[in-house]
Amino acid sequence: MEGKAILNQLSPYQQGKQIKDIEKEYGLDRIVKLASNENPYGYSAHVREYFLKNISEFNIYPDGYTAELRKAVADKINVNENQLLFGSGSEEIVQMICRAFLYSGTNTIMATPTFPQYKHNALIEGADVVEIPTVNGYHDLENIYKSIDHNTKVVWLCSPNNPSGLVIPKEDFKDFMDKCPENVLVVLDEAYYEYIDDSKDIHALTLLSDYSNLIVLRTFSKAYGLAGLRIGYGIANNNLITKLDVVRGPFNTTSLAQKAALIALDDTEFIEDTKANNFAVKKSVQQFLDTIGWKYYETQANFLLVSTPVSGTEVFQFLVENGFIVRPGELLGSPNTIRFTLGKAEDMNLMQDKLAQLHQQIIKGN
Ligand SMILES: *Cc1c(COP(=O)(O)O)cnc(C)c1O
Repeated sequence: MEGKAILNQLSPYQQGKQIKDIEKEYGLDRIVKLASNENPYGYSAHVREYFLKNISEFNIYPDGYTAELRKAVADKINVNENQLLFGSGSEEIVQMICRAFLYSGTNTIMATPTFPQYKHNALIEGADVVEIPTVNGYHDLENIYKSIDHNTKVVWLCSPNNPSGLVIPKEDFKDFMDKCPENVLVVLDEAYYEYIDDSKDIHALTLLSDYSNLIVLRTFSKAYGLAGLRIGYGIANNNLITKLDVVRGPFNTTSLAQKAALIALDDTEFIEDTKANNFAVKKSVQQFLDTIGWKYYETQANFLLVSTPVSGTEVFQFLVENGFIVRPGELLGSPNTIRFTLGKAEDMNLMQDKLAQLHQQIIKGN
């Protein structure tokens, strides 16, 4: 059996170790998972209440058009219903974009480090991937622009960028869009949009009417806390959405996910609380890092990328033995860092005690 040749060079997604296995391996009774930027406060209580009382008709196919949720999202973000495309997570929209626009002989441009799924899916479609190193965690828009050639089909911008958490300043983004050729699709991945505290930096949506080659990605997986249900969406002009809709599977989002997202969307209080809690925890963790002198990026998301005085892998190992799962930067293309989700205050305090202990060990070792 011969698949596409590229399949021999790529590996399936390496899922982190399961919590149960780590608990057993290190004899821990509790593990705090801070590796995937899930919402530590859960999800809207209204969603839970609804599903405790109502069981969906699982024998019936979902509404492939996602009509109810479509209307609610369109109203909420003030776009036309025909400007939306739903996916099984925004990750599926990434797949659809690659499937629709990339093939052998084309190329696609992205930052490095950034969200790894852009590259993975682009390579599967046979495209060449051009990676432009970030500068101090920011996208190097100048060099991204200079790398565009006749074969460039898609440019990926991630804001806040994963893993740095830094937002592309609105003016820089607009300048980029002004220069970028109209036949190059620009994907602006805003998976952490709800966490952005600097409101002057946002509002790509207002630019959608000016640029027919822009698609913005959003998700219910992060601030809304519905990662396990898999639902996200893309926003663009209707021509683009219609093209992408051709490659979408007819029933790609489940009825359960659609309903949960619909209810979650309405619970603005939950999102506001999540954002406020996240901000408070961020400030307190940053204060702690200042005291031990570890540098970090000025994140506007629910995770923090921290420079470590030893390899990220060593810090990861120390933390995992103490019950905290973080991401070593070596796995993210950002050596000598760790990235961790900003968890609940009490868990962050416990982790800080451990980091302070490690910091002392490192100082003594030198
Ligand atoms: C988590 C994440 C996504 C994917 O989220 P879905 O669960 O597929 O909606 C997309 N982009 C970035 C940058 C992410 O961090």
